[in-house]
Amino acid sequence: MLKPLNARPFGYKNRTLCCDDASLAELAAEHGTPLYVYSSEHLLGRLAMFEQAFAAVPHTICYAVKANSSLALLRLLGKAGSGFDIVSGGELTRIAKAHKPALRKTVFAGVGKQVFEIDAALQADILLFNVESESELELLESRARPLDIPARFSLRVNPDVFAETHPYISTGLSAHKFGIDIKVARAIYRRAAKSKYLIPTGVSVHIGSQIRATDPFHAATARVIELIRQLRKDGIAITHIDAGGGLGIEYTDKAFDPAAAVASYAKSVLTATEGLDLHLLLEPGRFLVAQAGALLTTVLNVKKNGNKTFVITDAGMNDLIRPALYQAHHEILPVKQTSGARKPVDVVGPVCESGDFFARDRELATTKPGDVLAILDAGAYGMTLTSNYNSRPRPAEVLVEPEGARVIRRRETMKDLLGPEIV
Ligand SMILES: *Cc1c(COP(=O)(O)O)cnc(C)c1O
Repeated sequence: MLKPLNARPFGYKNRTLCCDDASLAELAAEHGTPLYVYSSEHLLGRLAMFEQAFAAVPHTICYAVKANSSLALLRLLGKAGSGFDIVSGGELTRIAKAHKPALRKTVFAGVGKQVFEIDAALQADILLFNVESESELELLESRARPLDIPARFSLRVNPDVFAETHPYISTGLSAHKFGIDIKVARAIYRRAAKSKYLIPTGVSVHIGSQIRATDPFHAATARVIELIRQLRKDGIAITHIDAGGGLGIEYTDKAFDPAAAVASYAKSVLTATEGLDLHLLLEPGRFLVAQAGALLTTVLNVKKNGNKTFVITDAGMNDLIRPALYQAHHEILPVKQTSGARKPVDVVGPVCESGDFFARDRELATTKPGDVLAILDAGAYGMTLTSNYNSRPRPAEVLVEPEGARVIRRRETMKDLLGPEIV
């Protein structure tokens, strides 16, 4: 029997780390490393958990595509009924390819939408645009008019609510580039309501990412509700409220109950929206996909410098940048469980940057070259933030499904990398 580690689909079976029923040792041997591995059942389980927490009210879950935009994962989610939150024309193309009917459940955010992206989204008949400035609203109108396609929109308001998270992923303060000051939003809606081509549909908010306390979600939603009441008094029939994403997960080995986390989150949002006839939109990214995935990497070398030990892996910051970018913690486990003593080591990649590390002073069982390690909770903001820095091809991706494991993205080759270049 697989004993899952905390809330994850990964656990040891006969001393071998598995993803559901698939041996990670076998997957690494068959497909090479670095390799991303995801569990389809875990991902769909998280979606179902979210659905259930909000079952009492009309709602649509719009999975935030930027967390992991793999076509195979998007198709899984789309077929399971999920909508999508996109931030670019490229992500729009992905939804059209992965599961076209989900375009009607797609919302489009982002502070720098371009004409070609707006046109494509209007023609795709997406659910609505999350507009981040008055000038963007004018741009939207100027495209909707010649195309003769009225644009449903929400203003993304900035509720000026502080949520404790890493400064790079906090977005709900007026010091940030996102959204429109909630104090001026009412006037903008009133002006927009005069246009035949702008349909005020909702109000949206997103205060940041990896937020564990649920009070800030309540505070932000309550401020949005106040605005919706005012707008309704003005005769502007707002039908949707978009509470954004941002619900965090537990990256360490501390106990974590995801169902309890999402229940508490739902309660904080729903107590604020109670009694209003509104369709709720939710944009979880990380919460759905982070723990579904791990990055497998092979130990290349174990090097001692003075009293420090460096475990050098074939994955680097270009394959998973979260530790370098956010000082993020990821649990790291040997794919083959050993009984050797645990010693503090730095797990580092081969990229020529001192920031290229996965863990510092981490207690890890003794490893040797050729051993495979699994970096857990790498499903969100892992593959989507990869790069070709140091001319390193991107990892392959494997999806573990009840029917078996399959490659959902082949490993890049140098031919892929050099293709666009002209000498
Ligand atoms: C990134 C983002 C999300 C998803 O955030 P998570 O922390 O992954 O849940 C949702 N909405 C918007 C507008 C975003 O920018």
